[in-house]
Amino acid sequence: MRNALIPIAAALAILILGVFIVNTQIWYTTRADSFSGARYAIKNINAIFAEARHATRLAVPLVDIECGMEGEYRLGTEAALQPHIRTIFILKDKTVTCSNLPGNRMLLRDVTTLPDRQLLLVPASSTVNGLPVLIFQTRQAESRIVVTISDSHLRDALDIPLKDVVYSLKVGNAILGMTGDVLPAGNRQTHILHVRADDYPYSIEFNAPPLFSLHRLLARSAWVLLFLVLIAGMAGYILYKYLNKSTSPDEALRRAIARNEIVPFYQPVMNGQEGTLRGVEVLARWKHPRAGYISPGSFIPVAEKSGLIVPLTRSLMEQTVTHMNAISSKLPEGFHIGINFSASHISSQNFVEECLTFKNSFNRSDLNLVLEVTEREPLDIDEHLVQTLNHLHENGFAIALDDFGTGYSGLSYLHDLHIDYIKIDQSFVGRVNGHKDSTRILDSVLDLARSLNISIVAEGVETQEQLDYLNRNDITFLQGYYFFRPVPFTELIKILLSKPKVKVRVE
Ligand code: C2E
Ligand code: CA
Ligand code: CA
Repeated sequence: MRNALIPIAAALAILILGVFIVNTQIWYTTRADSFSGARYAIKNINAIFAEARHATRLAVPLVDIECGMEGEYRLGTEAALQPHIRTIFILKDKTVTCSNLPGNRMLLRDVTTLPDRQLLLVPASSTVNGLPVLIFQTRQAESRIVVTISDSHLRDALDIPLKDVVYSLKVGNAILGMTGDVLPAGNRQTHILHVRADDYPYSIEFNAPPLFSLHRLLARSAWVLLFLVLIAGMAGYILYKYLNKSTSPDEALRRAIARNEIVPFYQPVMNGQEGTLRGVEVLARWKHPRAGYISPGSFIPVAEKSGLIVPLTRSLMEQTVTHMNAISSKLPEGFHIGINFSASHISSQNFVEECLTFKNSFNRSDLNLVLEVTEREPLDIDEHLVQTLNHLHENGFAIALDDFGTGYSGLSYLHDLHIDYIKIDQSFVGRVNGHKDSTRILDSVLDLARSLNISIVAEGVETQEQLDYLNRNDITFLQGYYFFRPVPFTELIKILLSKPKVKVRVE
């Protein structure tokens, strides 16, 4: 479950973002629908008021005359013909002068305190039949023409078939909802929206749709949600696959070479007798962006197996040329530059040309370029390899047999190869300590090396005892932590500028 958290988080983020967008869209349309519903209710109520106005106009001629049977009849007919009108009466000096109900009666319990406003919602307690009513009044000279409209017609007008939205009519400070009596407008829930009517003093109120509702989301966009879940799941899966795509060691190394992350470190090679710096061995380091410097032991085998050793060594050679040319004036006469080569690289087609180009790229022609060939791996000494190395030897390269004494190859090839240096493996030098017996193996390795009459380089010199021993045995070239560890180029410059002369003590 490597890197599973990030894909899960990403999938969740996509899902949440998707739900947020879909929900916002639904909320927005629901809100817009609610407003449309309110405007529709206004249209319905205005149509009822149009009837009231019509009835009012009819009553106008009756204001200034005696009402009588004729007046009652005319108002009664109008109330009967207009579907939403309950009563029509004329009020003068707090007295009903004419009404559609016989005997100038009306539905209201008390008209003396009736406020003089165009619209009024009257609660059930103030009507004779115990039902709330809306009053539509028009002043005409000293009189008022009053038309009453029953609550049920108003409720029909408010009954817009929109789910989860409830409309109410607000007149002044009174509210008529879908059920119950007229209520005062105060103390109502907060999330209330309203639309004001343009032509009359009333408004339609309704509940604002909630910002988020799972029920609404599922009801209106279940398919979209399902699609979102699929998309989020797929994105998470693809991301998971991508993050867990295992980069093979080969691939990682290939990229490291391309990015110039394989850099040369330089380990000084000293003259044991004089204690002076005679040259360097180039040792590969992986300058990893996260892990820091990685030792070659972990990536050289990968490079050899994958064939990447060729571009890797080429890159080191190029960097070495650049570095050495930059400090060419500071390099001692005949300075050694040792490079490690794998047998597979030496056997490759362009090896000789590569080496010659390498040699010609240096500013200085007196440098002693040493090709180090390890004996640690079984060396497949065939004619081609012998020819290649001998050809390079003739062209001014020195050949060093690395890790001498550890080899599997036997020594038969030494007759055919022109070898300039034998590098005694550090495991033999490392055994040397104060004890007399500790030098036994090294003694015999040195005897063997001496018998071949080839210059010897001792590796892995760490202690004074080891140095003393090697000096007593006239080993000229020494390499090891006793002198210097492998260092980056900037450190090498400092070493060169300090012109080291290590004190050598021979007992
Ligand atoms: P090597 O060619 O025998 O290099 C000497 C190794 O001994 C280096 O290890 C060096 O850091 C280490 N060493 C030097 N002085 C001392 C000392 O006093 N004590 C101890 N304990 N060790 C010391 P490093 O750099 O880790 O390299 C290991 C091996 O990796 C090298 O052994 C060489 O076989 C291989 N290698 C390094 N660079 C390259 C390269 O560019 N190409 C190839 N083909 N192989 C390389
Ligand atoms: Ca070496
Ligand atoms: Ca070695």
